[in-house]
Amino acid sequence: MAQPASLAQRSALAQPSELPSGLLASLQQVARGLGFADLAAVSLDPDLLAHSTHQLAAWIDKGYAGDMTYLQRHLSLRAQPQGLLPGAKTALVVTLNYLSQSDWQAHEAAALADPGRAVVSVYARGRDYHKVVRAALARLGEAVGEHLGPFGYRACVDSAPVLEVSLAQAAGLGWRGKNTLLLNREQGSMFFLGVLLTDLPIEALTPLTRAPAAHHCGSCTACLTACPTKAFVGPYELDARRCISYLTIEHSGDLEESIRPLLGNRLYGCDDCQRVCPWNKYAQLASHPDFQIRHGLDQTTVADLLTWRHADFQRVFQGSAVLRIGYARWLRNLAVVAGNGLRSLVQQPPDLASLIRQRLQDRRTQLSSETELSAAESAMVGRHLDWALAQESGQPSP
Ligand code: SF4
Ligand code: SF4
Repeated sequence: MAQPASLAQRSALAQPSELPSGLLASLQQVARGLGFADLAAVSLDPDLLAHSTHQLAAWIDKGYAGDMTYLQRHLSLRAQPQGLLPGAKTALVVTLNYLSQSDWQAHEAAALADPGRAVVSVYARGRDYHKVVRAALARLGEAVGEHLGPFGYRACVDSAPVLEVSLAQAAGLGWRGKNTLLLNREQGSMFFLGVLLTDLPIEALTPLTRAPAAHHCGSCTACLTACPTKAFVGPYELDARRCISYLTIEHSGDLEESIRPLLGNRLYGCDDCQRVCPWNKYAQLASHPDFQIRHGLDQTTVADLLTWRHADFQRVFQGSAVLRIGYARWLRNLAVVAGNGLRSLVQQPPDLASLIRQRLQDRRTQLSSETELSAAESAMVGRHLDWALAQESGQPSP
């Protein structure tokens, strides 16, 4: 975080009447050069986020946040970003496309239909977006400073307690879809959001403000019906405890046996409510090189992944968001995906099912030698491996 500008520096800031002509074009050119697709500004008025924070609190009270208890702890910071950056007046909100395949919807549909595959969510196949977006935001802050003089700013990406979607919506970057994600008509929803909190007055960034976007979901309900776990309580409301993204990434304990079959071959995250969204035919390819697919993560198979040990997990996911879930959750998820594969493959020519069964048994045998796991983690993974091996009996899913 850069230091807030001193009073003397502040007085040197350009006044609205003195704004350099072409400021908007200059900053957007800088932003595009950093890989951002779009940016807009919104004034952090005292009541701007009051309604969104109230809705978030009500959502948490219903229990829909599961064990994401940190959401409750930082509610006041979400309502008042000045707690994150003293004197914060304006947020610059940016979008960064992350797709690296133009035919991604067809590719994902084919992968999800193949029980031998283990699918890592599209956004996590490149480098860790937290690092990429934060670094690009910091460079954006420096570039804005070159145009407007020194100012205070703080880059926020996902892990900071900021209501990114609400800020992006207020900045005019799109509307919140029924799948709860930000959509716009030019990019769909396959982009990351980043926020640069600044202590600049909105007047300094007026060329970047725009009117809030209209909603364009209309009568569509494709995301609600496509969700494999029926995680949507209704339009715009998600029960995270049933969402595969939450279960495979955020949740640390056992996965309920009743929900394991519904994960199918989704190993890390889930893209279904975006894959079916008609606006995502406008989703754009990433311009940032760090979002290119690494290590063939769009082609991963259950049989291969079952041979990976801790060192492989560390090596492949160094610098990736997947590393954040840790080895125990990775193995837990893999066991569930392998069990689902085994159940589906039992009716087909036996080679692949035999291979998966053998590798699951190897993992079960090796588990006691996995010294990277704590006793509790090892027990959890063991329960999921036992469940996976039992799936071959072909018992129907609950
Ligand atoms: S990410 Fe997947 S599981 Fe979660 S709400 Fe969307 S479709 Fe449902
Ligand atoms: S799938 Fe339909 S309802 Fe869901 S977010 Fe997209 S447009 Fe809106």
